[in-house]
Amino acid sequence: MTDPLREPPVRGFHAVAPDRWQGRPAAVVELAYCNLRCPWCDARALVLAPGRLPAWSISQVKEGLFASPADTVVVTGGEPSMHRALPLLLLALKETGKQIILETNGTQPDMLRLLGARGLASHVVLSLKAPLDEESWERAAGVYVPVEIIRESLAALKESGLPFTLSCTVAPGILSKEDVLRLAREVREFGPLTLTGHRTDGVLDPDAAGLEAIGERELANLRKDVAAIFAGVDNYTE
Ligand code: SF4
Repeated sequence: MTDPLREPPVRGFHAVAPDRWQGRPAAVVELAYCNLRCPWCDARALVLAPGRLPAWSISQVKEGLFASPADTVVVTGGEPSMHRALPLLLLALKETGKQIILETNGTQPDMLRLLGARGLASHVVLSLKAPLDEESWERAAGVYVPVEIIRESLAALKESGLPFTLSCTVAPGILSKEDVLRLAREVREFGPLTLTGHRTDGVLDPDAAGLEAIGERELANLRKDVAAIFAGVDNYTE
């Protein structure tokens, strides 16, 4: 039994997952629990029933990483940054020499500031759920989210000097094309913004499971429109 005050709840570890980081294999560490309830979320067990998943101690994860051929580890969830002990996990992962990618929903700006100040991540991926107004965020995140904290996280990442990427999952029935373009305009100074489609099976909200995912061609066209918004921004890559 691990001490939750010293070890965040790791409920998934994969020594190598194909195409997990920038088209290359990476190890993946999954942390339980989340403070949001995005209807289209495909991490149902991690968010709602982590007690049913096997627990990993930090030393077990480190051992697995030392044996992994991947040079990168992605720390994801659930929402990793909601755990006070996250820095202790990242410190331990750093000792393996792997590049550390942190995926977050951006609701914990203080934690991002701390990780930046201590250099505990190599890259942060901030998943933006909707344009920056509370009605849109509540629809996309399933709970009330004061958008000031998202703005604060964006500013904290920019000030930290940590490399970071913004991502957005285009969930039909939740985000329209106009919503995505408005978000791109709102975060233009923080770009790049990458778009992904969403899975429809095994998602958090059974009603969202019935929605048809955005088509490849539609997604490609939307990426082009987003690229046009970021034209001229130095760090934009599609
Ligand atoms: S998709 Fe939403 S609910 Fe699922 S883990 Fe990410 S932030 Fe939490």
